[in-house]
Amino acid sequence: MSLPEFKLLRPRTTAEAIAQLAEHAGNIRILAGGTDLLPSMQQKLFEPQYVLDIRRIAELKGIRPQPDRAVEIGALTPLTDIERSDVLRSRYPVLPEAAKTVASPVLRNMGTIGGNICLDTRCLWYNQSLQWRKSCGFCIKKDGDLCHVAPGGSKCWAVFSGDTPAALLCLDAEIEIANSSGVRRAKLADFYTGIGDDYRKLQSDELVTRVLLPASSSGYRGVYRKLRVRGSIDYPLAGVAVVLKRSNGHIEDARVALTAVNPAPVLVKGATELLAGKRLTEASAEAAGVLAARTAKPLTTSALTPEYRREMIRVFTKRAVLALAAES
Ligand SMILES: Cc1cc2nc3c(=O)[nH]c(=O)nc-3n(C[C@H](O)[C@H](O)[C@H](O)COP(=O)(O)OP(=O)(O)OC[C@H]3O[C@@H](n4cnc5c(N)ncnc54)[C@H](O)[C@@H]3O)c2cc1C
Ligand code: SF4
Repeated sequence: MSLPEFKLLRPRTTAEAIAQLAEHAGNIRILAGGTDLLPSMQQKLFEPQYVLDIRRIAELKGIRPQPDRAVEIGALTPLTDIERSDVLRSRYPVLPEAAKTVASPVLRNMGTIGGNICLDTRCLWYNQSLQWRKSCGFCIKKDGDLCHVAPGGSKCWAVFSGDTPAALLCLDAEIEIANSSGVRRAKLADFYTGIGDDYRKLQSDELVTRVLLPASSSGYRGVYRKLRVRGSIDYPLAGVAVVLKRSNGHIEDARVALTAVNPAPVLVKGATELLAGKRLTEASAEAAGVLAARTAKPLTTSALTPEYRREMIRVFTKRAVLALAAES
């Protein structure tokens, strides 16, 4: 499959990139590692007139520990650097663990944290060639007006399938977004809409520049568990991140987040209240698993059945909590 024609822009600074985004807003796509954008363009899911290749912008790369134990990560930082970072492993272990499950080593060398956060939602009916989609009459997410997954409805349920956002939600991460009017910060939890065909709050003239991990989440132990068809290289079909802090044998604070089972990565509401103050036991782990499974709303957007994916959310959440019990 060939790429559609486009003009390639290669800025060297963030300011230059933002000016080019503003000039071509609505007709431009950002290319970071390109590991998701380029296959999507080959499938003619996107046919922008301009592609903004941000890979030469050095100031967007790097992991920068702050004096107060917070850490800033440039949006263009490769996932391999996150997986191998000593400072992240010691302060925010759930993030390197999630990063190391993304795709394969080659794709993690190319793929970036910003690209993982901004990743398009996926569906069996959408991530296909133009000919394939045409033969099915297209769908709401692109070029059509019906949903094959939930016929009769008008919402797209394509599933968010990035690994690191579940870990980042547990860490209460923020992102910095720049455009020609300035810079704003947003909680990652507020960045996603939960709508498959309009899944993130990012305008076409905006660039994610940094990921900010707060000092208050530093030191939480964490685990990420992921269901996929091919262990060596695959998108998640269900993913769970769990972080917690213990004191005197009890759970002081805990957070659970899910990915690949809803149109957005989501924090499990009530998980903190359920676990805080409890001992890490089989019973508390099972209760967290049941709650997480209730939050998951998988549909037939992916290769495995919704029932199996939801059940694996329960199992993985329970196992993740028990793994943290065994750790300390
Ligand atoms: C075979 C295969 C397996 C994969 N398996 C996984 C997997 O297991 N888990 C997983 O999470 N992903 C997986 N991926 C998807 C992808 O490799 C990763 O999500 C990767 O992190 C994407 O980052 P990137 O830099 O390559 O993004 P790109 O492809 O460059 O961009 C992805 C999207 O984000 C936008 N974007 C990128 N950077 C910015 C920015 N700074 N500001 C605003 N918008 C931006 C782009 O415009 C595009 O819409 C897989 C891909 C392939 C081909
Ligand atoms: S969920 Fe429905 S509208 Fe969305 S991509 Fe799949 S088939 Fe298309």
